[in-house]
Amino acid sequence: MQNKHIPMRMCIGCGKMNHKDNLIRIVKTSNTKAPITVDINGKMPGRGAYLCRDTICLKNIRKTKRLSRIFSCSIPDDFYAILEKEINQNG
Ligand SMILES: [Zn+2]
Repeated sequence: MQNKHIPMRMCIGCGKMNHKDNLIRIVKTSNTKAPITVDINGKMPGRGAYLCRDTICLKNIRKTKRLSRIFSCSIPDDFYAILEKEINQNG
């Protein structure tokens, strides 16, 4: 698999390009009860945003309420806990 191509995406926390494999995809779905979710397999439909698997980037988007602005909805504290868990699992 020498020629495996890994697409690059921009992290919403630090604004740097990173390999898709190193990023968590956050997606807004049509589920009105819990519209914002972590897309584990990177295949869910809907508007997506990418975040490095890095607690610094997570703290940054939490502080700046970046997700609220991107998805035009409020982000529950629970969701940041989910993201943190996801980062720690793979870090
Ligand atoms: Zn980042």
